[in-house]
Amino acid sequence: MSEIETPSASGVQPAAPAQVRFSDFGLSPDILRALTDQGYEYPTPIQAQAIPVVLQGRDVMGAAQTGTGKTAGFSLPIIQLLLAHASPSMSPARHPVRALILTPTRELAVQVAENVAAYSRHTPLRSTVVYGGVDMKPQTAILRNGVEIIIATPGRLLDHIEQKTVSLGQVQMFVMDEADRMLDMGFLPDLQRIINLLPKQRQNLMFSATFSPEIKKLANSFLNSPVTIEVARSNATADKVTQVVYKVLEEHKRDAVAHILRSREMKQVIVFSNTKIGASRLARGLEQEGMKASAIHGDKTQQERMAALEAFKRGEIDVLVATDVAARGLDISDLPCVINYDLPYNAEDYVHRIGRTGRAGASGDAISIYSDKDERLLADIEKLIKQTIKRGELQGFSPSARANDERRPVRRDGDRAGAGAGAGERGPRPERSGERERYGRPNGPSPRSNKVDPWFLKPYEPTRSTRPATPEATTSQAPSKPKQKIAALLGGLPKN
Ligand code: AMP
Repeated sequence: MSEIETPSASGVQPAAPAQVRFSDFGLSPDILRALTDQGYEYPTPIQAQAIPVVLQGRDVMGAAQTGTGKTAGFSLPIIQLLLAHASPSMSPARHPVRALILTPTRELAVQVAENVAAYSRHTPLRSTVVYGGVDMKPQTAILRNGVEIIIATPGRLLDHIEQKTVSLGQVQMFVMDEADRMLDMGFLPDLQRIINLLPKQRQNLMFSATFSPEIKKLANSFLNSPVTIEVARSNATADKVTQVVYKVLEEHKRDAVAHILRSREMKQVIVFSNTKIGASRLARGLEQEGMKASAIHGDKTQQERMAALEAFKRGEIDVLVATDVAARGLDISDLPCVINYDLPYNAEDYVHRIGRTGRAGASGDAISIYSDKDERLLADIEKLIKQTIKRGELQGFSPSARANDERRPVRRDGDRAGAGAGAGERGPRPERSGERERYGRPNGPSPRSNKVDPWFLKPYEPTRSTRPATPEATTSQAPSKPKQKIAALLGGLPKN
């Protein structure tokens, strides 16, 4: 399959395979009704390409990111193919697991499960989601009743396999979503264990935003003459995203973010931080300035992460401070602005981050703050996106006294000691992107002025989830709530 054009400057995708409609794919009326319920009229480019191929039973290697509509691209044909086995019987034996969808993160698993539940709601097919960090019992109860489609994170699925609460002996369709992130997060051994438990005869679909040699190796190991489907990168650097960088002193970064947010009265902004502790502290600092901010990262409990995300989607939180790992895969992609509090260590993450902005047909802003020591990261990014990002000046910016107080003297040996809420907390550059959220205090505790909020001096304490998931969160039987549309698709929009 050939590559489809990037969106035009207007943001509206040229109607790729002209005027294709969902009804052209031979999908069941029950699925079409669910699509009408969702308000979907036209398939997105990835859907237009993937649906017929998956319906033919072919393996697929898909290059697509969240925000392209890839979830429906694989789940609609899965539901269609499984309808041949659908049973209205209550007996668990009549509802064996026939499709397994693996995702790297809990948030993505929940999102995919919500989509699958919505698309299959008029069919007798059952689906559920299992992920870690919550009580296994409610998940077990649902699994015992029988489900045809499981959406899972690898670790928790293996827990269920060990407890014999799930059997994969009848899986005929296997999806690996965000495979690159799975490898980044160190899931390869888990994936191999799971794949070994699947029947040899099955259909495999793999989706990944990037195709490194490791991903290709993984694909070769389990895909069978796959059809390659690509949609152009959501991003990036798409002409509709205006990019600017502001250089400030490291210790002024937090104030600079606050200044930008306040002076432009921004709402619905994601601010990216490279570290968990940086995200927590920035969110706290912004809250202290009277802004509605919340942090989302890997050390927050599942409930906290979901609550923050929902509050952000409802508009109760204006600023979501996120790490890449926490934000990856979230269905938040048509924001008016993203801010990089830290430039990412990995230039590709910059492209992912700014791909969150730019509404269909409208422009988005990607604003980055950086300091002297980030020059090399900026150069890496510019090399990757093959353009020079505009250097801006922060009009009217005067750093707070606190930031200046927190500034520490330069040592004789040239090793600048910790600088407030910035450098001292970042820790060493990690080896793998999956470890990017680590935090550390390589320089030891830093001397602070009395004016610093004691909260910032507390040692970092990750919270751990103990509460069980609500049954609603894990079952497809939950009533589907109306979804606030904040995701812009890469295409799939009808031509006006
Ligand atoms: P995904 O890339 O699968 O995470 O999808 C991104 C968003 O697009 C989700 O909010 C979907 O509900 C939505 N979506 C998927 N397919 C379509 C479509 N054909 N038309 C409109 N919205 C869609």
